[in-house]
Amino acid sequence: MNKSTACPLDCYDACEILYDEVKVSPSKEGHTNGFLCSHLNHYESTPQIQQPRYNGVNISMAEALDRLKNILSSIQKDKTLFYKSSGNFGLMQDVTGHFFASYGATLTEGSLCDGAGEAGIIQGRGSNKNMPLSEIAKSEVVIIWGRNPHTTSSHLLPLLKDKKIIVIDPIKTKIAKIADIHIQLKPHTDLQLAIFLSRFLFIENTIDEKYLEEFASEYEEFYELTQTLRIKKTLDKIDVSLGDIGDILDLIKDRKVAIVCGVGIQKYRNGADVMRAIDAFAVNLGLFGKEGCGVAYLGDSRNGIESPFNLDAKKVSKVDTKFSEYECVFIQGANPLSQMPDSTRVTMDISGVQNIVYFGLYENESSSMAHLVIPAKNFLSKNDVRVSYSHFKMMFMLKVKECRYGISEYDLTRYLCDIFNIELQDEEFYLEHFKKYNSRDIEFIPYKDGFDTDNGEFIYLEELEGIKVKSDVLYLLTPKSSKSLNSQFHRDEYVYLNASHGFENNELVMLSSEKGNIKLKVKISEDIRNDCVLVYSGTKGINTLTSSLHSYEGKSAVYQEVRVEIFKY
Ligand code: SF4
Repeated sequence: MNKSTACPLDCYDACEILYDEVKVSPSKEGHTNGFLCSHLNHYESTPQIQQPRYNGVNISMAEALDRLKNILSSIQKDKTLFYKSSGNFGLMQDVTGHFFASYGATLTEGSLCDGAGEAGIIQGRGSNKNMPLSEIAKSEVVIIWGRNPHTTSSHLLPLLKDKKIIVIDPIKTKIAKIADIHIQLKPHTDLQLAIFLSRFLFIENTIDEKYLEEFASEYEEFYELTQTLRIKKTLDKIDVSLGDIGDILDLIKDRKVAIVCGVGIQKYRNGADVMRAIDAFAVNLGLFGKEGCGVAYLGDSRNGIESPFNLDAKKVSKVDTKFSEYECVFIQGANPLSQMPDSTRVTMDISGVQNIVYFGLYENESSSMAHLVIPAKNFLSKNDVRVSYSHFKMMFMLKVKECRYGISEYDLTRYLCDIFNIELQDEEFYLEHFKKYNSRDIEFIPYKDGFDTDNGEFIYLEELEGIKVKSDVLYLLTPKSSKSLNSQFHRDEYVYLNASHGFENNELVMLSSEKGNIKLKVKISEDIRNDCVLVYSGTKGINTLTSSLHSYEGKSAVYQEVRVEIFKY
């Protein structure tokens, strides 16, 4: 008999899946629509860590737990750091944090993903409520801004049928090739384009003035701000023409418009301003609070859900964590040695830590450096509940099969709480707690009655600082690959370049930034602008190039802020 669960991976789609004792298959219902991506179709063929080990020697799970107890008992509590990824949406995954926070360890905060964009959304709207897939389905025009749905949100694709499509992306993605309009703009210039789109709405008098009077009454001041950019000079620099802007405005006029944004637009220090300027464009069109209209990004998946866990602890940034300040670093479901920016610094910094504990499913750079490795159970063999940042469904992930290896987050926490005398309820208590939110009030069309700011109005950007366009540099683009999910699954090993650089397929080159160097083989692609190089985010060594600066707002990593040079190796 089929049992129902959900995909646990960090993905917009959050599919519902079935398990028939042998294999997973897609739910035919709802947004999952009868198909899963290759990550899940091959999920069980990806080798998992089965055996705990200590200093490279295989040990039993009982010995591993005993080792963990001894490590924690032998050092001061505040010398322990709990470093967890934010890429797993199972709400029960936080139970481990409950132990570490209650115990007196330090936790992490900030984002290696969407934090700058979320900060910009909250500054403007007062909250981060997303436009769900079910509303995008009702739109007439979809502007796909810096997102590659064939790779990161394949369940969006059937919804785009028969709609007008505008793509704004420095890469000629698959969706760009079939779009009605593709603006292949220069990277890091989305802010200028968003400002110009608003400016020409004002010039053409196609703003929704009635809506603005009610929900964004500072719009005239914002118009003044848009005029501080010189039109010809700026458009030349960002590689967009007046005709491009006119074409976009013509296509969206008097239509239901969804603006679907990806995280690439905000991987910069001013990423919050980029997202807020796109929101401002949507506000000027009056897109919020209406059926089939709005802006989709990554919503706050836990909006309205109260955590039953104690996560109240000292927190440090997960972007530039100083690991060497701790005597024990416990890593859960993350691979900071690969995925944190400035990985040369990270590797040097963490190498002096006496006790690195890795708790996860797969071998990677972090597990290979860990002293103690504890295999986790995968989602099929434990109980959880998940939410999504692109739709509002709460999905129950009850255990569908036994697994002889690994330990669940709850069972590990149960062990630690018993040993260190910390209060923990039964697993059922927490599952029931989350289930209560299944019937929570959900706003499928958020901001119908105004924004969640103090006065209910949208708050516009007030200044445009530091948006100079550099023309003599190569931009590094780090999107997700279709074959890997960050450092999980099949990791890519190429740099993708336009042929104009004079390199050939499979030639070995050195990419160099102010932070470090990486050798990669070349793949030539005419889909990439000649002022960019593309290296997928899970590629080994890519973060030797990136810097651990934070976004100005949102405590987020800024992977694409870096500029690179390329040399024949
Ligand atoms: S599309 Fe996303 S949610 Fe669906 S199976 Fe693939 S990774 Fe999981």
